[in-house]
Amino acid sequence: MRVREHAGITDAGRRRRRNEDSFVVDPPFFVVADGMGGAQAGEVASRLAAAAFREYHDADDLDGERRLEAIIQEANRRIFERAQADTAAEGMGTTVTAALVDGGSVAIGHVGDSRAYRVRSSQIEQLTQDHSLVADLIRSGRLAPEEADAHPQRSVITRALGTDADVDVDTFTVDAEAGDLFLLCSDGLTSMVTDDEILDVARGSENLDRLAKALVKAANRRGGEDNVTVVLFALDEGEPGLQETVPMTVDGHGNASDLEDTLSGLEVPPHVRPTPPSEEVAEAREGETAIGWTPLPERRGDGSPARRGRTRPRRRLAGVSIVLAFAAVLLLAAFWGLANAHFVGAEEDGRIAVYQGLPYDVGGGVSLYRARYVSTVRAAQLSQDERQRLFDHDLMSYAAARDRLARFETEAVP
Ligand code: CA
Repeated sequence: MRVREHAGITDAGRRRRRNEDSFVVDPPFFVVADGMGGAQAGEVASRLAAAAFREYHDADDLDGERRLEAIIQEANRRIFERAQADTAAEGMGTTVTAALVDGGSVAIGHVGDSRAYRVRSSQIEQLTQDHSLVADLIRSGRLAPEEADAHPQRSVITRALGTDADVDVDTFTVDAEAGDLFLLCSDGLTSMVTDDEILDVARGSENLDRLAKALVKAANRRGGEDNVTVVLFALDEGEPGLQETVPMTVDGHGNASDLEDTLSGLEVPPHVRPTPPSEEVAEAREGETAIGWTPLPERRGDGSPARRGRTRPRRRLAGVSIVLAFAAVLLLAAFWGLANAHFVGAEEDGRIAVYQGLPYDVGGGVSLYRARYVSTVRAAQLSQDERQRLFDHDLMSYAAARDRLARFETEAVP
């Protein structure tokens, strides 16, 4: 297999001032890294991971998976050492999702919640498993997959590069066929855009550069709450050596400044737009108006709203009462919960913590909980099994929650 075409792009998104993502497009290597940590530490961590790939030149007698494992372990060592040496960088870490085109197959190395996908015959398949708190909760049946996107701790990862001297790396190999398209991306894309929507955008794009930009644009249209990075490569029959030399793109940061200009001519297909709440859909359909964010009632020639608009008030009133009653119940539950309930979770940097309140966001950045105690033990130091038992969302007293953590705090090796 040879790489027929490739593209890479990163964008800060709409909410973040900094971009902590990095990427490498350097065939046969493709990498996405999503950094975390205070000040500029997240950027440092993801750049160190990217640099480890760029500087790697030997040991190609190893198979693809073992090469990826070796580079990722080297990256981990460098980030961990930097974090130890520099107090400002303490606790920094990064995800890494890397692909290596290796003959007729593609090797994948993976830590964290960035993802690798393969698109083949109009199907999209997620190749990697997220190492994240919500993924653990889904696997143990505590959280429905559709609840994951709204979970307040959806960005907590349970494995990262740089937080410990050793890291568990997932490596595996998938077969490759001519026409396969591979996508590596940070969670800034997948938390905003569904897999099916990614597939829809892919179908409508004429080349990988435009596809990469269209995906970033789709994430930003949904709110762009996080840095978005997209790396793409398409495979073809042929010898790797015959590959067309496309200028190497290794800049994980500088490409996005011209995004607004270059993206302005692009349109996200209409079916990729956010689905309006069901009542709005019904209203729009009956009124024969286009479905969009906030469909307006169709107006007649005399300027009065269409028939649908006039027959609605009673139903609206009933609807409003139900919503108000529901809100009151929620509020009461929240007050009770805030005062009495505690649950175990983890902070953005992975440290396990006891929260007072309920594990929900009510929207607009308001959550129903606050951290009451933050441990020095990180989620990454626990086994998958321990994490699943610890992060179960059971509500309990503060003392009981501290008891649960205490066991890990005495056992965990710092
Ligand atoms: Ca991210």
